[in-house]
Amino acid sequence: MGYTNSSMVVYTKLSPNHSGQRTMAIDRITPHCVVGQCTAEGLGDWFYKSSTQASSNYGIDKDGRVGMYVEEKNRSWCSSSNANDQRAITIECASDTTEPYAFRDVVYKRLIELCIDICKRNGKNKLIWFGDKDKTLNYSPKSGEMILTVHRWFANKSCPGNWMYARMGDLAEKVTKALQGSGGGSASKGTQASVLKDLSEADAVKKVGALFTADQKKSGILASVSLAQFILESGYGKSELAQNANNIFGMKCSLSGNTWSGSSWDGKSRYTKKTQEQNADGSYETITADFRKYSCIEDSIADHSAYLIGAMNGKKLRYDGLKGCTDYKKAVQIIKDGGYATSLTYVEKLCSIIEKWKLADYDAKDSGGEVIRWYRVRKSWADSKTQKGAYKILDNAKKCADQNPGYKVFDADGKVVYEPKTAEPAVKVPFLVKVSISDLNIRSGAGTNFTRVQFCPPGVYTIMEVKAGQGSKAGWGRLKSGIGWLSLDFCQKL
Ligand SMILES: [Zn+2]
Repeated sequence: MGYTNSSMVVYTKLSPNHSGQRTMAIDRITPHCVVGQCTAEGLGDWFYKSSTQASSNYGIDKDGRVGMYVEEKNRSWCSSSNANDQRAITIECASDTTEPYAFRDVVYKRLIELCIDICKRNGKNKLIWFGDKDKTLNYSPKSGEMILTVHRWFANKSCPGNWMYARMGDLAEKVTKALQGSGGGSASKGTQASVLKDLSEADAVKKVGALFTADQKKSGILASVSLAQFILESGYGKSELAQNANNIFGMKCSLSGNTWSGSSWDGKSRYTKKTQEQNADGSYETITADFRKYSCIEDSIADHSAYLIGAMNGKKLRYDGLKGCTDYKKAVQIIKDGGYATSLTYVEKLCSIIEKWKLADYDAKDSGGEVIRWYRVRKSWADSKTQKGAYKILDNAKKCADQNPGYKVFDADGKVVYEPKTAEPAVKVPFLVKVSISDLNIRSGAGTNFTRVQFCPPGVYTIMEVKAGQGSKAGWGRLKSGIGWLSLDFCQKL
């Protein structure tokens, strides 16, 4: 199964201190005390050092802010027990520096919330505290059960401190109550909506992007723009899909659970809203836009796209120029100008989402489409015969250029979008040069920044090696005699 991360995270600094992907499914939570009233950033810096040799999945700082240092999918180095950390989400909590290592109220409150969030996303509806080491470690949790463990069982430590240890039962009770009050968690069972449930942001974008790319011809609108709209609006609606998307992309503020005002719900799967578009003569035209309670992403994207492409105003497309537009910034502006969004920052928001998740990489149409935005790998744009390949995905084009010295990646307009750092030019050596001037310096290294050895008497010399260096455009040549280097600017190659 896949894993998600908490949308409560406000600060992320991934630590190198972890064992890679966990080998056991998550069924434990282990709260720890930091032994310090730290900030999320301070804890992040500490775990970021490889010499620390420790980490946790999450941290809750002195102000109740949640940091992430090891993604949930990975096994953190936190509880002095491989067996525990392979299956546990570990949480470091800011605490006092001496026993009982008390947490501030805001920290404890946040810990409860974070545990609820972790349980929900991992399909658990019950958090259990047995208060007994042997019983806990010998217990096989049923599906839906999450178990609390403590560091002191695995090492000679007080962690999580007597303050927290005394509250483990309270924590379990409060979390379970919240989970069962809200319908027993969101353990969706293979529904279409769960397609996003266990994915990281990046994986979700990939998955959604692939779905969209396959279906692009139908929509005529850039994948990047539609994907960004989907992400931005993923908080709307109470459907499981919306909420899962919302959790993944962290668009918490827009999770309003609303439906469109003036829309009607058919009781099963579809919202219908009649929008009134005014014609040039002042008469109204009624357009019916169907907003489904989307059960799958394709539907959501296809409907949004169809709406944007189809919306007419005064017998004219409201979003004129949108169809087939290949510049996402332009497309977003067209949508904004057409009145789709009232938010003043809509363009910036959508563009920043597109850039954050590199959604423009999905803006290639397949061969049947009218617009193909290939990334081409050539020596120069003009020299199409040198083309090594054409790629829809920029990363793949970059890889090709990296493997072929002298090649660059061009976008569809012929602009260089990527140029690998050039290695030393491969010059065939040895070769002969003729020196005609009498005051050419021989230097101890390849550059005018190296000391002068002597003048080079006019004559013919053998160059064994060429290097780039300060003060010479053509580079520096190493003399066979071993005495030093000549600027090839003043030599004639024979
Ligand atoms: Zn600990």
